[in-house]
Amino acid sequence: MSTLGDLLIARIARTGPMSIADYMADCLLHPEHGYYATRDPLGVAGDFTTAPEISQMFGELIGLALAQSWVDQGQPAAITLAELGPGRGTLMTDALRATKAVPGFHDALSVHFVEASPVLREAQAKMVPHAIWHDSIDTLPDAPLYLIANEFFDALPVRQFVRTDDAWREKMVGVADDALSFGLSAPASLAVLEHRLVDTKEGDLIEHCSALPGIIQQISQRIGTQGGAALIIDYGDWQSLGDTLQALKGHQKADALKSPGSADLTAQVDFAAIAAAAEPAKFSRLTPQGVFLERLGITQRAQALAKGLKGDALQSHIAAHRRLTHPGEMGDLFKVISLYPASATPPPGLEP
Ligand code: SAH
Repeated sequence: MSTLGDLLIARIARTGPMSIADYMADCLLHPEHGYYATRDPLGVAGDFTTAPEISQMFGELIGLALAQSWVDQGQPAAITLAELGPGRGTLMTDALRATKAVPGFHDALSVHFVEASPVLREAQAKMVPHAIWHDSIDTLPDAPLYLIANEFFDALPVRQFVRTDDAWREKMVGVADDALSFGLSAPASLAVLEHRLVDTKEGDLIEHCSALPGIIQQISQRIGTQGGAALIIDYGDWQSLGDTLQALKGHQKADALKSPGSADLTAQVDFAAIAAAAEPAKFSRLTPQGVFLERLGITQRAQALAKGLKGDALQSHIAAHRRLTHPGEMGDLFKVISLYPASATPPPGLEP
């Protein structure tokens, strides 16, 4: 049986080099060989671990923050509680458990998942059987939108461009000596990258996610006109600079061009691109994950949970708290931004 590598080499021979974005899209979502299409990548036995898999506190605090926003906006009667790329459904499960005590919240909400992977959809259905699944955000119901996206945007394909004079050469995946290899296209001027001529110099590499603005515009349109709030959490910073394409396999960094489809591929999120597309919603200040979770009271929650634990369970609980919040671990690299209506205040933890 041919591998995804064989298929891509044959395709490149036919039609020429492909962009990093097209390469990422095939590696992650190819219906037969794609990374997400064929496995559950999360957890100790998988390739990477995410915040909700590290501790229940993460989903609990996110859920409570969104419920507080719902209270602050006058408790609208029927709302969409949506998650983009919900993984195993762990975050939503923790969020729903924690918000049971918020009067009226569960009666008002219906849960909607946007998920591409059939394998993960199955895992999600075991955790949150009453959820409704969507292929994209286009079909989310018309209602105030409370939305969570944790490590979703980093899985969206990016193109990479290297600056030369006032133009850009795109980094492409081609074939050399029968193997996939990187190359550069001829220089071209690109209107979407015009604003990056200001903050870059010759030789700098930048990344551009073409799917991101459309998704953020749709979310902002709904939240800005109908109410709600989005909490977007990911690794990255305010404007991409440098090559952040990363392949992870078995919790180790791997070669992005080797055995395509077998490693997770991500790129850091450019939060300035999220802010730029946030119309007519407002965007909050970009806040480090550690600061956000501390403001929401993770230390008090950790202490309360610690009371029921001892031995190894207590040690791993303490390690999990540190891993989520410490600047040397996920606390600084991961950031949180919120979208919210101009008439409302930002969700708790993201105040200026
Ligand atoms: N939010 C989860 C999982 C993060 S992994 C957690 O924090 O544990 C990325 C998730 O996004 C997976 O569920 C993956 O299947 C999904 N995903 C990736 N690309 C997608 C796309 N284009 N459309 C919908 N879901 C996608």
